[in-house]
Amino acid sequence: MHEMAITQSILRIALDAAEKNGAKRILAIHLRLGDFSDVMPAYVRSYFDIASAGTIACGAKITETRTPATVRCRDCGAKSVIEKRSIRCPRCQSANLELLSGTEFTVESVEIE
Ligand SMILES: [Zn+2]
Repeated sequence: MHEMAITQSILRIALDAAEKNGAKRILAIHLRLGDFSDVMPAYVRSYFDIASAGTIACGAKITETRTPATVRCRDCGAKSVIEKRSIRCPRCQSANLELLSGTEFTVESVEIE
């Protein structure tokens, strides 16, 4: 389960940001998650509750924004944005695609007080 390691790095980023800003508490953490990322937000949430216990991030809400994936078609060369439920080149319907983005997983912002 790599979600535990990911959760710990999310927590570290959030705590660093909070410390730099002199925060008393972390209210929410907003994540950006590529549509093709294999990270499961439900696991991140439950690990987060364990990992954040006793820190100022305890009880913080975790939200995620999904971003679509971009691909390049190896057959016709078109660059397109696709969704996970339709992994085909929109121009020529080929499934011979190169994934350019969509597996990213980043902390977009941290809400503090
Ligand atoms: Zn194509």
